[in-house]
Amino acid sequence: MAFIDAHREILKKELDDIRQAGIFKEERIICAPQSSEIEVIFPVGSKEKRVINMCANNYLGLSSHPEVVDAARKGLDHRGYGMSSVRFICGTQDIHKQLEAKLTEFLGTEDTILFPSCMDANCGVFEAVLNEQDIMIADRLVHASIVDGMRLAKAEQDTYKHSDMDHLEKKLELHKDRRLRVIITDGNFSMDGDLAKLDEIVALAEKYNALVFVDDSHASGFIGKTGRGTHEHCGVMGKIDILTTTLGKAMGGASGGCVSGRREIVEMCRQKARPYLFSNTIAPVVVEGALAVLNLISRSTERRDKLEKNTEFWRKGLTEAGFIIKEGETAIVPVMLFNAKLSQDFAKDLFEEGIYAVGFFFPVVPKGQARIRTQLSAAHESHHLEKALAAFTKVGKKYEILHKTKQEIIDRYGQ
Ligand SMILES: *Cc1c(COP(=O)(O)O)cnc(C)c1O
Repeated sequence: MAFIDAHREILKKELDDIRQAGIFKEERIICAPQSSEIEVIFPVGSKEKRVINMCANNYLGLSSHPEVVDAARKGLDHRGYGMSSVRFICGTQDIHKQLEAKLTEFLGTEDTILFPSCMDANCGVFEAVLNEQDIMIADRLVHASIVDGMRLAKAEQDTYKHSDMDHLEKKLELHKDRRLRVIITDGNFSMDGDLAKLDEIVALAEKYNALVFVDDSHASGFIGKTGRGTHEHCGVMGKIDILTTTLGKAMGGASGGCVSGRREIVEMCRQKARPYLFSNTIAPVVVEGALAVLNLISRSTERRDKLEKNTEFWRKGLTEAGFIIKEGETAIVPVMLFNAKLSQDFAKDLFEEGIYAVGFFFPVVPKGQARIRTQLSAAHESHHLEKALAAFTKVGKKYEILHKTKQEIIDRYGQ
């Protein structure tokens, strides 16, 4: 059937509805390697502008690190550009196995299987491991890719209130007769930057004989004393049964993800996980780049230590300037504005000042909790953060939101 005018009209109408609702997403085009300073074209058709990047997941500043780029180039020379195959047919090179072994060592697990992305890892693992006799009990704020992965599985679903251990315990009690119970959580929740209480979760899992699943995409490489992740931070390394993570954030930022954890679970994914069986392998270039990243961050904690210092400076600076930020300790620092339009206007003014940050509002965050989410990087130098802080303060003054209570901001701008 042809794409007739009537079809086009249906979709145009839907797109118009999205625009009307004010939630139409527009890309900003970057004309430089990903870094703490980038050239951006926005809006489309305007001139390139050099800005400080406060919203990348480039936590360790490794996206364009020379050692990583060199390793990727070596991968290109030695193992070619593409694999033209899924892993189990003819898409596994020696370097894919090396990367899996290195991730196992770094994450402190038993075994690891690579996926094209962490989205794919999350979409594959539940269906591969669980059946209709099992129950998945998820934190209500887990990442969208986990929600999708749970939808694809035959096991039943339940949820617990965000980080509410009493509620989780009630659910574990309720489902105690199931074959398998899996507690499912993010390690570092990406919108608020708060960490899961993995020590308490593991204790509950032991009490109720449950498995623990953690998606550590916003933690691997920098949370914990040596950057292993949320499990290291909470003192439960070796006790996470299923750990998924991405190579697309702190760990070089290219692409790829994995399921790491109990040997049999990984083995089951190799047999049954559909995104592993039916989607192309990670390219050799990316595999070599990721190996270089793991070498770098296993060798020294210098970069995660610098990120920690930058985070402290930024959290303290914003608080002293009079902003309301989400309390916490991670490199995700949400600046609360509460009103959706204010978050958009604020981001636009920041861009004028040479600061690139994005305003989030419903449905990405709950209604009335609009914010600018800032993210720190080890690639930020003091002068970047000082300039960014000055810009935030200038724009904050303009909107008269500094040293105000949440209620005062809401009274003025609405929720
Ligand atoms: C970014 C993210 C993903 C997706 O990772 P990709 O490798 O880009 O697919 C999955 N889970 C969480 C929690 C994330 O933050």
